[in-house]
Amino acid sequence: MSRIVIIGAGGVGGVVTHKCAQLPDVFEEIVLASRTEAKCQAIADQLDRPIRTAAVDADDVPAMVSFLKAEKPDLLINVALPYQDLHLMDACLEAGVHYMDTANYEPPDEAKFEYSWQWAYQDRFREAGLMALLGCGFDPGVTGIFTAHAKKHQFDTIDTLDIIDCNAGDHGQPFATNFNPEINIREVSAKGRYWENGAWQETEPLSVRHVFDFPEGIGEMPMYLMYHEELESLTTHLPEIKRARFWMTFSDNYLKHLEVLENVGMTSIDPVSFNGQEIIPLQFLKALLPDPSSLGPLTKGKTCIGCLIRGKKDGKDKLYYIYNISDHEACYAEVQSQAISYTTGVPAMIGAKMMLQGHWMKPGVWNVEQLDPDPFMADLNRYGLPWTETYPDTVSLD
Ligand code: NDP
Repeated sequence: MSRIVIIGAGGVGGVVTHKCAQLPDVFEEIVLASRTEAKCQAIADQLDRPIRTAAVDADDVPAMVSFLKAEKPDLLINVALPYQDLHLMDACLEAGVHYMDTANYEPPDEAKFEYSWQWAYQDRFREAGLMALLGCGFDPGVTGIFTAHAKKHQFDTIDTLDIIDCNAGDHGQPFATNFNPEINIREVSAKGRYWENGAWQETEPLSVRHVFDFPEGIGEMPMYLMYHEELESLTTHLPEIKRARFWMTFSDNYLKHLEVLENVGMTSIDPVSFNGQEIIPLQFLKALLPDPSSLGPLTKGKTCIGCLIRGKKDGKDKLYYIYNISDHEACYAEVQSQAISYTTGVPAMIGAKMMLQGHWMKPGVWNVEQLDPDPFMADLNRYGLPWTETYPDTVSLD
């Protein structure tokens, strides 16, 4: 009998719940809990099997511990926000529940993310005989599994890794973000950073640009160098990588709006006083922007996320590109969410399945690239995120 608790009823939470509900043999009992129970209920109403819902505040650790002790799940899937990661890890430790998430911890009052806070739980999880699986969405998540798969089956050594995230979809809105606007804008407006020859190199936000020719009819799109959290874990766990970078596509329209919002201070996370009340401009902006879940029925086009890897096999240089293409409308037809939530929620479901079925179950705190990629790669093809491998002659991103 396996029982899971999913925390967070946003875009990603909706997809995880749908996908877990599709596999009653693995996920026999599902509880979806979030700050606003009505959102859990709305997701539950879309399913063709019953699940339970609850209202919880994931930041209230004692209340979460009582909730988990009453529910007795085997695993907690955290798809609330990165701010909740440590509180939920604390609650899982105390209640004796395995943990997983899709994004690393960020302190609410500082636009900074790194794994150190969560890696610091290693001994406590190991000693408790519990597992914490970190960053099991698409990026981070599948990008790390693609890299582990490449290392296992394609290369003797990996020299360079370029993770390339393209959203060629269009939602028709003047400005909207595809996942939580606060998290998205904090990430995009931060300085760029990449790993080269044993050190981090910093770039001004969105200042390094390349045009990349995306496969399967997407064509050429500009993409920008950004910092992304899996660069930290991948260069730690695969120290042979000499250079690791992350790229994301943005439309000119998105960048124009972002620049104006930044210039007028709307993306700041420093509190300002307004009519006698303290507000955080970015949180106010989030309240004005379309809810990402409302973009599902509007978004058309495809996403293409993958890894371009250069390295050596049998003494010879090799270039390898592995990617997934997802179609926004097809995702919506299946689970009532666009492809950004879909490409995050499906790997979260597969990661949970890997843990519950024992393929990946081991005490301690783990990033996905530290685990066997084979069963996960097989499940990507089975559950909606098929991947393609190519061997381009040349691709220059220098
Ligand atoms: P949303 O903002 O749509 O949803 C977040 C949900 O968490 C909301 O339902 C919210 O409740 C709930 N929540 C927030 N705070 C609390 C709390 N204290 N207690 C209980 N519930 C809470 O975000 P997304 O679904 O877009 O993203 C979810 C996660 O997925 C984020 O951590 C994001 O960074 C990550 N992500 C990872 C990706 C990857 O590829 N690895 C890609 C995209 C996202 P309420 O509705 O009441 O506000």
